[in-house]
Amino acid sequence: MNVYHSVQPVASILVVDDEPSNIQILREAVRDMGEVYFATNGESALELIHARRPDVVLLDIEMPGMDGYAVCKAIKADPLVSDTAIIFVTSHESHLHELQALSYGGVDFVQKPFNVPIARARIQTHLSLQLKTRQLVQARRDLADVVTNIPAFVAHWNNHLVNCFCNDNAGHWFGVTAQAMNNKPLREILGENNFQAIQPHIDSALHGENPSFDMTFERNSNAPVYGQVSLIHRRGDNAEEGFLMLITDVTERKLAEIALFIEKERLHITLNSIGDAVIATDQNGIVSFVNPIAESLTGWLGSEALGKPIEQIMPLREGTIGYTLQNPIRLALKERRVVGMAMNCMLQSRAGDEFEVEDSAAPIYDHAGELTGAIIVFHDVSEARAMAIKMTHLANHDALTNLPNRMLLHDRTEQALHNAQRSGERVAMILLDIDHFKTINDSLGHSAGDEFLQKITQRLKHMLRAGDTISRQGGDEFIILLTEVNNIEQIGLFANRVLKTIAEPYWIGANRFDLSASLGISLYPDDSEDREALYRHADAAMYLAKREGRNRYHFFSAKIEDNIRARLLLEHHLRDALERGVFEVFYQPKIDSLTQAIVGAEALVRWRDPNGNLISPMDFIPLAEETGIIIPLGLMVLRRACMDAKTWHHAGFPIPVAINISAVQFSEDNFVDEVAKVLNESGIDFHQVEFEITEGILAKNIAKSSKTIAHLKELGLKIAIDDFGTGYSSLSYLKGFPLDVLKIDQSFIRDMIADPRDAAIVTAIIHMAKGLNLKLVAEGVETQQQADILLAQGCNVMQGFLYSRPVPYPVMTELLRNGISHSYNE
Ligand code: C2E
Ligand code: CA
Ligand code: CA
Repeated sequence: MNVYHSVQPVASILVVDDEPSNIQILREAVRDMGEVYFATNGESALELIHARRPDVVLLDIEMPGMDGYAVCKAIKADPLVSDTAIIFVTSHESHLHELQALSYGGVDFVQKPFNVPIARARIQTHLSLQLKTRQLVQARRDLADVVTNIPAFVAHWNNHLVNCFCNDNAGHWFGVTAQAMNNKPLREILGENNFQAIQPHIDSALHGENPSFDMTFERNSNAPVYGQVSLIHRRGDNAEEGFLMLITDVTERKLAEIALFIEKERLHITLNSIGDAVIATDQNGIVSFVNPIAESLTGWLGSEALGKPIEQIMPLREGTIGYTLQNPIRLALKERRVVGMAMNCMLQSRAGDEFEVEDSAAPIYDHAGELTGAIIVFHDVSEARAMAIKMTHLANHDALTNLPNRMLLHDRTEQALHNAQRSGERVAMILLDIDHFKTINDSLGHSAGDEFLQKITQRLKHMLRAGDTISRQGGDEFIILLTEVNNIEQIGLFANRVLKTIAEPYWIGANRFDLSASLGISLYPDDSEDREALYRHADAAMYLAKREGRNRYHFFSAKIEDNIRARLLLEHHLRDALERGVFEVFYQPKIDSLTQAIVGAEALVRWRDPNGNLISPMDFIPLAEETGIIIPLGLMVLRRACMDAKTWHHAGFPIPVAINISAVQFSEDNFVDEVAKVLNESGIDFHQVEFEITEGILAKNIAKSSKTIAHLKELGLKIAIDDFGTGYSSLSYLKGFPLDVLKIDQSFIRDMIADPRDAAIVTAIIHMAKGLNLKLVAEGVETQQQADILLAQGCNVMQGFLYSRPVPYPVMTELLRNGISHSYNE
């Protein structure tokens, strides 16, 4: 209330008297006390009182017309001005007048004639009194304003709990206006329930305490009100004193609190029932919350994990190399941002299990924007990963056979073509269709059909190498992709094996079934360089195989088809011939041209075909080498030659026998053992056996060749270099081998007369052989002229049509007996 002291209002005084001289005297006496007005009759006095609101009225009692009493009465009757202090001015000395003046509501009187100092003192007293009174009234009014306008319920209840005051003029709180509340008991106003609820507090308030509490006020029709209640005990022993009741409406705050609680509760339920694992930490990364999923993934109970650093609860490491990964919580806290999932991240559980997890962490801020912690959400992705792998597999594989489907084959083919382009190798696409499969499906049902397809799949899968692919195209159609194909025969052989495999009997229950297939084969790059075209060609070839009677394969290209057919037929015959023993060994004598004596014989294999024609080794040796038939064939020749030579030795012709050794034989690991075995069986003198090998064989793998040669030499065999001069002819390595003979290749002998360069080569070879201390044989000597020149140069051992063609064993025996004059050289 200080504000009211700072401006001292100017006092105002009204002088009312019908005697102007009196007015004059009083006016003079009080002029320094404030503003002074005057009136000479009652009516104008009342007007001025209303207009000026004087603090004090000096009112003459005796006036003509309206006298002082009447004026006083009128003032007191008017509430607007009734508080005006009235000092009567009287000339009567009677106390009766004075008493009467006071009973009319005057506050004092002054007597005429005036004793100015006394009058002034009295007036002054009332002026200040009036001022105080007015200030008090103002203050009370202000206080009442405050009380009525504060947003709270304020009421005063006496000791009997009856209302003395209430500020709720509108009846906002309890539906009862302040006026209606007056003198009503608290119990009635609050209602029984509310009253009961606060009764203990009321008791304590009546006993001198000031309780404060929250409560919910039920109201008949309206929503409940949440109030913060203070009861303020009023001191004293008067029954009226009781207590003040102050209720603040906290409904809004309360509702917000409830909403927050519900929200928190909802969050809690969500985190506990969510499918992801959730861990929260404080700003130091110390665990403050773990949801059930996180408990089961980490193996830590929430109660155990609380207060531990995140790294202990959730150790992470990289999946491939295994180094420790920083927990994303740390990064989220440090960089104050959401940290996304780490790839290939493994969580180690407390029990030591490992899960692949995906996670993300985010910082948490309070309402003021302060970092208070972080939260990490993660889940086990092993299952999802496995599912993804499974889905990819399903998308790329045939459900029935689990073979790659058309889509995957497509990719594999592209890849194979790409690789083949770089390596220069072939790729074969083989389209396989089961013959008459429809009949099986129709007669046995589809599930039996499926069983057949699965069995066929198993058989075919076993035939493939690592880089090959077999795929099912649907129905009974398969495609086999062969990569890294070096020669076409391989494919023919493979196709044959497929036919054989398919043809093996199938057992379903106790019933036997036989199936066959038709194969169409196209080749990269021979037939096409394009995947689609390869497929079309294979399809066309398969159609040809069907048309030609099924159970067979067909190449798309007719040329390849013919080649393959011929070669495979030949191979078949070769094996057959070997089995039936129709290979023969012929011998060609080696002659010392000085004496015409036979000094040796070369064994040369011959094949007599079913028509009795001899087929040259040139036509079948290469295929025999490719197919490996050369190995049993070579041993057969060796055995035969040794046996024949041994007979000659017994008959008194101690000539060595020379056998041609193919590169394929020579590089066999057990070659020397096999040779020794055959030689031992034959009982021949090992020194009488000579192996003819070409330069190329020696040069191929020098280390391995020298070992083999050394072993052969240990056995006592002789080594001849066949076709010398056509291969590497490098002296440096020849020196390193323990050789015995050089056979000058027949091409030089043939051309030495016509071409001086060949003559020079022959001369050089002869010199060289002498220098290396090797024996010499000239091959393919057909004319006497050739023989003469060779002899003139110092090469006397010769082999050729001039002396004898290769002849069968009996003829050779005859030559040995009778000499070459009866030579078999027509
Ligand atoms: P090669 O070892 O150079 O054998 C000599 C070839 O020359 C023989 O051919 C022989 O008949 C032929 N020939 C001999 N004298 C003359 C002549 O004066 N003029 C002409 N034009 N040719 C003559 P053949 O028997 O047809 O053998 C061809 C090749 O087959 C042999 O060449 C040899 O490399 C190989 N061969 C023969 N038999 C065997 C064998 O049992 N094992 C192995 N691995 N290869 C063999
Ligand atoms: Ca030879
Ligand atoms: Ca030769």
